[in-house]
Amino acid sequence: MNCDLCALMKGPLLYEDASIVAMLAPKPASVGHVIVAPKQHHVILEQVPDKIAGELFAVANRLSIALFEGLGVQGTNVLVQNGAAAGQITPHVRLDIIPRQENDGINLLWQPRQLSEEEMSTVELRLKEAILPLGQHEEKKEEPKPEKKEEKPLKMDDENYLIRSLRRIP
Ligand SMILES: [Zn+2]
Repeated sequence: MNCDLCALMKGPLLYEDASIVAMLAPKPASVGHVIVAPKQHHVILEQVPDKIAGELFAVANRLSIALFEGLGVQGTNVLVQNGAAAGQITPHVRLDIIPRQENDGINLLWQPRQLSEEEMSTVELRLKEAILPLGQHEEKKEEPKPEKKEEKPLKMDDENYLIRSLRRIP
């Protein structure tokens, strides 16, 4: 498959786990610009399973913290470009973490628009209709196994264990 990002994953990585990788952007917007991406080739975010999407964001958050701690950046933009119209240039889902300093000249701002009340309520209605069939995000819960619960009286050891556990909670 001819994918720049899949190719980039074969190079030096900043971070790797079972499903996510992170690397320095080869053409950075600023010093320390990081790309975080799922290992599996997905074109747009819609195709990424919820679990991986969550992991993607969790890893991006870690990398963002590392930029603050390691490079002393003052801010980060965590950006998803979803579709060519949104500026997506690689056919592979990625999060760009762009380190920011005050007055660094990087412009991700837009001119706020004022919609009429009618426009706003039309948009809201259409979106609500579209959201409904997508369902709510829910963690898939393991079916609780029916287990025989023996109500045994607390022994001294158990009690000590409980107390030790409680002490660990700050
Ligand atoms: Zn790819």
